Amino acid sequence: MGKNEDLFIRAQKTIPGGVNSPVRAFRQVGGIPRFVSRAKGPYFWDAEDKRYIDLIMSWGPMIVGHANPEVVEAVQRAAATSFSYGAPTEGEIELAERICHLMPSVEQVRMVSSGTEATMSALRLARGYTGRDLIIKFEGCYHGHADSLLVKAGSGLLTFADSTQNAPSSGGVPQDLVKHTLVLPYNDIAALEEVFLKQGEQVAAVIIEPITGNMNLIKPLPEFLSTLRQLTSQHGSVLIYDEVMTGFRVALGGAQSLQGITPDLTCLGKVMGGGMPIAAFGGKKEIMSKLAPLGNVYQAGTLSGNPVAVASGLKTLEIVSRPGFYEQLTSQTEQLMKGLKLAADTSGVPVSVDSVGGMFGLYFADQVPRSFEEVTQSNIEHFKQFFHAMLNEGIYLAPSAYEAGFTSITHDSEVIEAILAAAQTAFKQLA
Ligand code: PLP
Repeated sequence: MGKNEDLFIRAQKTIPGGVNSPVRAFRQVGGIPRFVSRAKGPYFWDAEDKRYIDLIMSWGPMIVGHANPEVVEAVQRAAATSFSYGAPTEGEIELAERICHLMPSVEQVRMVSSGTEATMSALRLARGYTGRDLIIKFEGCYHGHADSLLVKAGSGLLTFADSTQNAPSSGGVPQDLVKHTLVLPYNDIAALEEVFLKQGEQVAAVIIEPITGNMNLIKPLPEFLSTLRQLTSQHGSVLIYDEVMTGFRVALGGAQSLQGITPDLTCLGKVMGGGMPIAAFGGKKEIMSKLAPLGNVYQAGTLSGNPVAVASGLKTLEIVSRPGFYEQLTSQTEQLMKGLKLAADTSGVPVSVDSVGGMFGLYFADQVPRSFEEVTQSNIEHFKQFFHAMLNEGIYLAPSAYEAGFTSITHDSEVIEAILAAAQTAFKQLA
C-alpha cells in the first residue's frame, strides 16, 4: 500500500469521505485521491513524491502558478504583521479600488471569505433591494452551497446527486425554501421569455455563470445573454453575474468584458485571492448602499477582508494586469486544446474541445455541448479511462467529467508538450 492510500484510509476516520470538499474524493472516477505535499509553478508532488502537471490549479485560483515568488513574498510580509485585526486596513481599500477599476460595472464591493458567501450575500441583497423573493438560476450552474442555490446545481452535485429531479440537489434543504428558486435550462431563450412574461414582476434576481465551468465549460449564446439583460432591466430584476470562476481568469475584466454585458451585481472569488480564502460581491452603488451599516440588508464576517488574503489578492491582480498576460495565457491554453484534439483524432476517439482565457473544456462527445443535458450525454466511461491513463502519466485532470480545466501562465510550451505526449499515450489506450 502506498502513502496516498495510507493517508486516505487515515483521513476517512476523522474527515467524512476523507476530504474537505466532495469532488476531491475521486467518486466519479474511482481510485485513491492524491494527497499533495508541495507545489511549484504548474506542478505538484503527491505524498509518494510523484510529480504531476496540475490542470485544476486549485479549481481556478492559481493563475500565476503555484508558489509564485512575488505572491509568496507579499503574503509573508503581511503575515509577519498579524493574520487578522477585525478592523479596517488600507490594503482592503486598495483591493476594492483595483477591482472597481478592472470591472467598471462594480462601483462598490464588499469582501467576504468564500464564493458561497459572495453569492449568498448578493442574493440577499437583491431580495432586500427589490422587496421580491423569487430567484432564477440555470440548470447545471453552481453558485456555492447556500440552501436556495442547491437546485439542479452543477459541480460536485452534478457528479454525485440525481440532478434529474426538480428537487433540492442536497439533503437538508427544505422544499419550502427552494420553492423560491426557479431553474431554467441554460441557453434557452424561449424559457426565459416565458417566465418573465408570466412572473417577471416577482423576480428579485437572475444569477448566472456567464461562462459555465461547473458542468464542464459551456459558453452562452450572445442572444441568450442580451435577452437576459433586456428582460431583467425591463422587469426591475437584479442581474447577478457569478464570476467567482471566470473573474480575472477568462480575461482581465472577466466574462462581462468579453460579452459587453453590464450586470447589476458581480460575485468574485478564486483568482482575486490568488489561492487565499477571499471573495467579494459588488456592483451598482444604488444596490450596494442597501447593505449594513448603511442599509437594512445584513452581511458580515470575522475574517472578511483578511489582510494576508488581501496581500495575496493584490499581488496576484498586479501580476495578471501586466501587459500581455491574458494574450499569453489564452494562446498557451489554445495550443493545449489544439494538441489534445489532434491526439484524440489520431487515435479515433470522439472528443471536442473549447477554451476561453485560462479555462478549458474537454468533452468526450462529437460536439461542444451547449447545455446541461448535452454535457450529461458525453461518454463518461471514456473520460474515466482517460483520467486514469493521464494520472498514470503524471497529468492531474479534474476528477469529474463535469468540471472545466484550468491552466496558469506557467503552463508554457514545454509543459504543454509534456501533457500532449501523455495524452497521445492515453488516447491510444482508449482506441
Ligand atoms: N460560484 C462559482 C461559479 C463557483 O465555481 C464556485 C466554486 O467553485 C462558487 C461560486 C463557490 O465558491 P466557494 O467554493 O469559494 O464557496
